[in-house]
Amino acid sequence: MIKVENLTKKFGENEVLSNISTEIKKGEVVSIIGPSGSGKSTFLRCINLLEKPTEGTILVDEENLTDPKTNILKVREKIGMVFQHFHLFPHLNVLDNLTYAPMKVKHLSKDQAEEKARGLLAKVGLTEKETAYPSSLSGGQKQRVAIARALAMEPDLMLFDEPTSALDPEMVKEVLDVMKDLAHSGMTMAVVTHEMGFAREVADRVLFLDHGVLVEEGEPNSFFTAPKTNRAADFLEKIL
Ligand code: ADP
Ligand code: MG
Repeated sequence: MIKVENLTKKFGENEVLSNISTEIKKGEVVSIIGPSGSGKSTFLRCINLLEKPTEGTILVDEENLTDPKTNILKVREKIGMVFQHFHLFPHLNVLDNLTYAPMKVKHLSKDQAEEKARGLLAKVGLTEKETAYPSSLSGGQKQRVAIARALAMEPDLMLFDEPTSALDPEMVKEVLDVMKDLAHSGMTMAVVTHEMGFAREVADRVLFLDHGVLVEEGEPNSFFTAPKTNRAADFLEKIL
């Protein structure tokens, strides 16, 4: 579904991603882990071209994102993104947060969009919050709304950038549970996370980045119990 080939990203002289090649298959859940500043967010942002790669190619469903002829907006419609800090529309209530893009971009009628939104709110356990505004929600509720809002566009791929890092500890589980359900439903997901439990239990594969280099990738159990590189071993020793 996603093929990254020789991706390099520089900000000025600063090379933050160095020659990364990897694939994410349809239905696969990939966790991206690594120290702060290692390039995890930049990597995700390159996948939907929020950042422009300096070199290399990114194919999404065979479409070359780095080809100037590609309609990026069209490709981006297939990719949902969830951020650490939610980015909900503060002036819209929960239901309107979910219906806005489907109506505007996909030209769904209000009824169609609301029906779909209600289904998604039920899925993330927030049916009773339909008319609430984001400011009245807890962090965990906001993030579940953000996930539902991304799903309302019926993406083929979901990108998560530290979705639980800004949450109080007691709210982490409710968000991870929604993500687990999504993973089990067959969604293709790339998840930057410090939740090693999630990476271990839910991910099919772990990518370990350090200083912009994809140092190691592999199946979670072997990665966590027997990392192949010293850099990964050092990192795991610090956080586990
Ligand atoms: P991570 O998500 O792993 O913490 P990032 O991808 O955010 O890492 O950042 C990787 C490196 O790129 C850091 O050194 C950061 O300062 C730099 N960086 C990220 N975004 C920009 C930007 N827009 N302009 C300049 N440097 C950036
Ligand atoms: Mg980051």
